[in-house]
Amino acid sequence: MTNRISHWIDGKPWAGVAERTGEVFDPATGSVRAHVDFAGTEQVEEAVAAAARAFPAWRNTSLAARTRIMFAFRELLSARKHELAKIVTSEHGKVESDAAGEVARAIENVEYACGAAQLLKGGFNESASTGVDVYSIAQPLGVVGVISPFNFPAMVPLWFVPNAIACGNTVVLKPSEKDPSAANFIAELFAEAGLPDGVLNVLHGDKVAVDGLLEHPVVKAISFVGSTPIARYVYETGTRHGKRVQALGGAKNHMVVLPDADLDLAADAAVSAGFGSAGERCMAVSVVVAVDPVGDELVRKIADRISRLRVGDGRRPSSEMGPLVTAAHHARVASYVDAGVSAGAELVVDGRGIEVDGEPGGFWLGPTLFDKVTPEMSIYRDEIFGPVLSVARADSYEAALGLINANPYGNGAAIFTNDGGAARRFQNEVEVGMVGVNVPIPVPVGYYSFGGWKDSLFGDSHAYGPEGFHFFTRTKVVTSRWLDPSHGGVNLGFPRNT
Ligand code: NAD
Repeated sequence: MTNRISHWIDGKPWAGVAERTGEVFDPATGSVRAHVDFAGTEQVEEAVAAAARAFPAWRNTSLAARTRIMFAFRELLSARKHELAKIVTSEHGKVESDAAGEVARAIENVEYACGAAQLLKGGFNESASTGVDVYSIAQPLGVVGVISPFNFPAMVPLWFVPNAIACGNTVVLKPSEKDPSAANFIAELFAEAGLPDGVLNVLHGDKVAVDGLLEHPVVKAISFVGSTPIARYVYETGTRHGKRVQALGGAKNHMVVLPDADLDLAADAAVSAGFGSAGERCMAVSVVVAVDPVGDELVRKIADRISRLRVGDGRRPSSEMGPLVTAAHHARVASYVDAGVSAGAELVVDGRGIEVDGEPGGFWLGPTLFDKVTPEMSIYRDEIFGPVLSVARADSYEAALGLINANPYGNGAAIFTNDGGAARRFQNEVEVGMVGVNVPIPVPVGYYSFGGWKDSLFGDSHAYGPEGFHFFTRTKVVTSRWLDPSHGGVNLGFPRNT
């Protein structure tokens, strides 16, 4: 018998019997730790109906009351952050210190949503015309869907859910079926914080659940994060069904190292950002672009650091890098290593066949480093989403920038240099949504917004922060006259401001 993970609908666990379920693994041992219920169309209806029932009262719940619930949730989340980090590690595999970092960033998003009263202020102009005042109101959309990926099972739901709720919407969250437990933990904490039943629902499953939300006439907006092909599909399908959609996709993030950079700092950064979370981050560095003549020295420094990385079960404090999320994903990532070798890239460190003490069934792949990678190779073109770091050589700043700007993805990019002018030029010229200057993973803080360009985001709103509040509200402008309501009789002319 394994545990069963089920939907959370209308403030309680779903009591039905699922027709389909999925396996949830412990990636460090390879064993099945739970089965998760997969929603059919009836459960989509139930979840959306619960959210729709909760909406009228929630949209009219005072800002004071909504804010108090958000503060209470923040306190509960903070008090139980270690528990949530352990849940993330048990199903995703990332090491606990990394999972704790994910939860810490999630808490920052909740803190931002605690400022809803300030953020939802409209504008007001007294006497826009004689005796006429004009003002704007930001109102919630209604029922919104949030669809999240496996790689941040706590943080990505909390990029969207707090802002959506704080704005007065009700939510159906469809987390990744690979690591579904964090979403239930979050929903239960919200309930404990006083969130009324039906305001946040969790629907587990696969394409059936996603399509059900995308096509449902009651769902007004979709926030999606996942791979680029699915993001494109979600954007096209959701908008075709009349919804507001933001769909964040995959990435291929480059880190440019100029010849004047501190190479030790750059090597530390490349290893941290390339192999943290086993490379399963949309902001992972997957290509280091070494500008001549520093390539050989930089590769030596990176390889040296890799040899000291400790790969192991994420529950052990000594582990720095955990396993991949599933056997299928492991096979896919390993196949890219084979492809890189066949394509003629120089394999400097080979992570295949790594042996980790005690857990032979785990989905292990050691840190892998390729040098002299070129743009036509699949290891360069595709998002691998594993611990495979490529070094490409460029003979100038312009050539390095050209590589990034020619890439179809545009999530993040970093430059390592001691030249402020070069950094200023890079931030101006690079075609990505998030830029790091001597910072390898430039994930914006909660009071900015997160989003890539090109194939890394479909839609025009970035996630969380100010753009999140914009996404989850629509504006109404009121023109009103109270004093001197005489209007001079019938006048068919277009109203002029006097
Ligand atoms: P994924 O696209 O496989 O799945 C994401 C979500 O879509 C999941 O909830 C999944 O159940 C659902 N889904 C999967 N296949 C579907 C289909 N055919 N139809 C409808 N829904 C479907 O992504 P993943 O493997 O869970 O996550 C990794 C990907 O997410 C990487 O590409 C990574 O770069 C990306 N990501 C992007 C960001 C960002 O901010 N841009 C952040 C995190 C992850």
